[in-house]
Amino acid sequence: MSLFEKFKKKSNNSMDTKYTNPGPTNTAHQDDSWITEKMKCPMCGATITVSYKMFYEVTKENQHIKEQLRDPGSDIYKTKCPKCQVDATCEYPMQYVDHIQKLNFYVVPVGHPQEKKFFEMVDQFDCYPGYTTRLVADNHTLADKIRVFDAGLDDRIIEIDKILLWGDICNEKPEYATVKCTDQWYFHVEKKNDQGINHSISYVVEKNGKKELIPFVLTDGYYESTKKVFEPTLSRIKMGKFEEVGRKWAYDVIDQHRKKIGKRK
Ligand SMILES: [Zn+2]
Repeated sequence: MSLFEKFKKKSNNSMDTKYTNPGPTNTAHQDDSWITEKMKCPMCGATITVSYKMFYEVTKENQHIKEQLRDPGSDIYKTKCPKCQVDATCEYPMQYVDHIQKLNFYVVPVGHPQEKKFFEMVDQFDCYPGYTTRLVADNHTLADKIRVFDAGLDDRIIEIDKILLWGDICNEKPEYATVKCTDQWYFHVEKKNDQGINHSISYVVEKNGKKELIPFVLTDGYYESTKKVFEPTLSRIKMGKFEEVGRKWAYDVIDQHRKKIGKRK
């Protein structure tokens, strides 16, 4: 049973959200991890009823869900206002478990009505021991994590590289030193013409008041050297049960690493 299913059972009637099973008419809805929630249309304020799944499971037989969630713009997240027809993207708490790669990700959007409740109850649960467990705040981060692990890489190194690579770019290319980099940094895999692949990190930057996505290649050499340099620090770090391995986490690791190096000198 997924953590969110346990969560749902335990928190009966104690949450704002109404859980309903849309019934057997639609086979896709038979799974009881579907929940229905009402939200306000961001444009006209009309009530939109959204049904979504709280639990996604990747197995040998079911790989397609991974393909869908690897795209943060997936239809899974989309809904339409019945009144003004505006398209809205929804983010909601869910659990993503990949039994092939042994991954257990919790998506808990910051500020979601269930956020507080989730953290109040989450310590009581222990789902999928031995799996890599991560907490992520939105569907873009979930997609990023899926891409990193699919590429056979360590997300801790990638998060550190996102910071280091941007610093190196600013040092090497003065035109970027004055560009404002947002906190949206993504890992991508691109196929090259000669059948190989490129790993890259893309940064959303603000240039002349406009947002722009700039990709930079992350070479295997760069990744490996970060891995080598940070391995001793990473081995000392105790990972929390629901660790959010993101920007803040990576800055902390870099700081710890620098302190240690400083002491030795
Ligand atoms: Zn509307």
